[in-house]
Amino acid sequence: MTPFPHYQYTESFAKERDALDPLADFRSRFHFPKINGKDALYFCGNSLGLQPKTAAAYLEKELAAWANMGVDGYFHGEDPWYSVRKKSKPILAQILGALPEEVVAMNYLSVNLHLLMVSFYQPTPTRFKIIVEGGAFPSDQYMLETQIKFHGLDPKDVLVELLPRIGEYTLRTEDIVEEIRKQGSSLAMVNMAGIQYYTGQLFDIQAITQAAHEVGAVAGFDLAHAAGNAPLQLHDWEVDFATWCSYKYLNSGPGNVSGIFVHERYADRPDLPRFAGWWGHSEAERFKMEKGFQPMHGADGWQLACSNVLSLAVHQASLDLFQEAGMPAIREKSIQLTGYLEYLIEEISGDSGVLEIITPKNPAERGCQLSLLIHKGGKAVFDEWYGQGVVGDWRNPNVIRLAPAPLYTSFQDVYRFARVLEQSLKKFA
Ligand SMILES: *Cc1c(COP(=O)(O)O)cnc(C)c1O
Repeated sequence: MTPFPHYQYTESFAKERDALDPLADFRSRFHFPKINGKDALYFCGNSLGLQPKTAAAYLEKELAAWANMGVDGYFHGEDPWYSVRKKSKPILAQILGALPEEVVAMNYLSVNLHLLMVSFYQPTPTRFKIIVEGGAFPSDQYMLETQIKFHGLDPKDVLVELLPRIGEYTLRTEDIVEEIRKQGSSLAMVNMAGIQYYTGQLFDIQAITQAAHEVGAVAGFDLAHAAGNAPLQLHDWEVDFATWCSYKYLNSGPGNVSGIFVHERYADRPDLPRFAGWWGHSEAERFKMEKGFQPMHGADGWQLACSNVLSLAVHQASLDLFQEAGMPAIREKSIQLTGYLEYLIEEISGDSGVLEIITPKNPAERGCQLSLLIHKGGKAVFDEWYGQGVVGDWRNPNVIRLAPAPLYTSFQDVYRFARVLEQSLKKFA
């Protein structure tokens, strides 16, 4: 890793950093929303990533194939739809640190969490507990609650929610590992976020997985905020399963397709319980229309329904940009850019008492998002920034999340935000 730049709160410094940035040109390959007639300062890729300018052409290509070939598009043309799922595998594998057969794009995140729980949560009278971070994303909480009830159990008896120490905002790995050991043989599963949506904390997925395995439990992760944002090595870390969405850092459009990871060691386990559909059935046998489900090898064996070709086309437009940029370069820039945002916030807000960064300071414990706890001014601070063209997001009760996504955010964008921040502090401090 190159040494950290010595940051400065000057426009010339930001310009210089942009001139040195090998990914600088990617910014012009995205559409920027306008606020008051000007390109927004867009820090909301943690919620919805921006649209690659190539997305429309990728989508139009499939619309044209459909127009010109009708059903023949499944087996003819440049990219026959029958095996369209294969196209995204190599780059998803790079982003997730997986083998191509361990990943597949399908369904939606919340749906996939349920499907993976069917296979990986099999409580017994003695081993039934699930460890989750406290304050998990609502969909994950509802998923766990209803899955537990589905097994005839009471969430109160099953869920172990991890909370930060008093006076701290984020979890310590040592405390997570200790809780896993404490639950020991009663622990069935650890089911946590990779990056916590509210605090921006990146968990030590490898250490957590290892601790879970040591007590005989499985470890699964919701990577909604980690995919395309944090460096991941799911295969080497021996994570059992994971899922993510493509519309946050993966810039694939509102509600677009999710994806799953299932570790290679489950690649050929037809005995694992699962809810099946014809698209997870042996590809060669599929059109024999016969009884008897035979799961495909690897993650593909968890597919249910025929691939959403139009969704996957837009997803691919974005994935091809990730392929071109490469995750190592994206991460490198991310560390520097988020470091710059952090420096400017600390430099400018100082001890004004308006805000406090609760995301860990250590770059190894975060992605690009910083979560700011607002102590004075409440949501009015957020509204003031928005009026100046800054798109972040407000999360109840009192956090503003800002994510300078490295593919389309420049150092000058971060500098411009700093100017807005400086002005706004005159009102709220
Ligand atoms: C964004 C997000 C979701 C959203 O789930 P969908 O099924 O895509 O609507 C779920 N969990 C987490 C942790 C998220 O950040």
